[in-house]
Amino acid sequence: NATSTISAALEDAKLIGITVDKGLDFSGWYQQILTKGEMLDYYDVSGCYILRPASYAIWEMIQKWFDEKIKSIGVQNAYFPMFVSSRVLEKEKDHVEGFAPEVAWVTRAGSSDLEEPIAIRPTSETVMYPYYAKWIRSYRDLPLKLNQWNSVVRWEFKHPQPFLRTREFLWQEGHTAHLTAEDAEAEVMQILDFYAGVYEELLAVPVVKGRKTEKEKFAGGDFTTTCEGYIPQTGRGIQGATSHHLGQNFSKMFNITVENPLGPEHPKVNVYQNSWGLSTRVIGVMVMIHSDNKGLVIPPRVSQQQAVVIPVGITKKTTDAQRSHIHESAKEVESRLKKAGIRIFGDYNDNYTPGWKFSQYELKGIPIRIEIGPKDIEKKQVVIVRRNDSNKYVVNLEELERRVPEILEELQKDLYSKAKESFDSHRVIVEDWKDFVPSLGKKNVILAPWCGETACEEDIKDSSAKKDDGEEYEQDEKAPSMGAKSLCIPFDQPKLRPGQKCIKCSLLARYYCMFGRSY
Ligand code: AMP
Repeated sequence: NATSTISAALEDAKLIGITVDKGLDFSGWYQQILTKGEMLDYYDVSGCYILRPASYAIWEMIQKWFDEKIKSIGVQNAYFPMFVSSRVLEKEKDHVEGFAPEVAWVTRAGSSDLEEPIAIRPTSETVMYPYYAKWIRSYRDLPLKLNQWNSVVRWEFKHPQPFLRTREFLWQEGHTAHLTAEDAEAEVMQILDFYAGVYEELLAVPVVKGRKTEKEKFAGGDFTTTCEGYIPQTGRGIQGATSHHLGQNFSKMFNITVENPLGPEHPKVNVYQNSWGLSTRVIGVMVMIHSDNKGLVIPPRVSQQQAVVIPVGITKKTTDAQRSHIHESAKEVESRLKKAGIRIFGDYNDNYTPGWKFSQYELKGIPIRIEIGPKDIEKKQVVIVRRNDSNKYVVNLEELERRVPEILEELQKDLYSKAKESFDSHRVIVEDWKDFVPSLGKKNVILAPWCGETACEEDIKDSSAKKDDGEEYEQDEKAPSMGAKSLCIPFDQPKLRPGQKCIKCSLLARYYCMFGRSY
């Protein structure tokens, strides 16, 4: 009878658990991981999703960390309306051209048509900058550094993906104005480092920092810096977050000027501006990289709960007194660790077996579970099991407050190292065009010597889609046939040989560019 109860429970766990293999059906797996892990739910407007508490808590951790960083460099938070009139939206030509296809419009209120349709912000440059023109009067008003935590709407026509590409998404957008280009450019890099910090320090996701090509830069800006991630299962790159230097383009369009501090004989100068944004996409990247066939794996620094205590070894023969002794001991462990600052809870429900509970919390990605049973109590110890690799640690009760934070930190570092190893080994230098597509087929992103010309970049994309040079390349069936985009020109550059040619055309290479299939 006991066996049949256990096997029924296991069957239950299987149904509740993940039934798709990460390696075989990555997108089916991703869907299940998110919905069964209770991170997100689907919604009846395509491209929109519900962020449930488990994912929103991660967003809050990221917000807290990043908010402190930007405040430390003098950024203040503010809030601007989500609506923008077409007159203002269309003020910067390149900018509006870049965003126009994705802008959603409000055309009606109740049953009457609006006299003039109103756009919903796809980003807030045009919403904010008329007010920058009004508020910035003198160089003493500079730098002006505002940020907002908000949502934006981009009616993306590319296939939507939870977190990665959604039609409404949460983000922060920082918008700053500076007296000098140097000042502004220094901040662009500072922010990019914070973004890399969100990925590497919080989410245990390695990124490559670099600059976008002219083709891929932010519409209307001078240059865009980015941190790029990598998804091993698909071999695709993903733009992590971007920090743009807008130069004086917007300040000219919106007439944001100050008197030159050099004196009244000098004319007005246009301010230099930056804008930078990091979205809830980061959560999707983190999930794709660390999670497995048992469910979510969440790095301890951002997980809502870091540990769960589960009493074990309670059987039919256990007396009430023994049972409550086990529970008391488990609760003691919980409260000691809570006092030590660990985000921890206990599951003391006797109606579920420990095995069932283990699968539940593995599904939800709780970084460690702490088991305590009669034998452990006797030996004054607990057994700790790591979610990411099932490694077990026997920890003496006296050592609890010291060891648990250590184990969590080690876990965090191990997740990062593993992801870094996989990114590093799939970022390969390719100098011969004939090796380019085969290398993409092996799920690599490619560092290639490149001329920097937009026409050549487009040629690379076209020629790397499906086949090239009349030859079919062998590809794994699931590998997408899409062409390779430029991901970034990494700051960390391999050395070019003198006279090194572009991988695709006959021009001289100017630098190595990272190319890859991408999200
Ligand atoms: P952008 O202002 O276009 O540079 O966007 C800033 C950041 O937001 C990008 O680097 C992406 O990581 C992210 N992002 C852009 N579009 C989307 C989207 N549709 N869904 C989620 N995140 C997005």
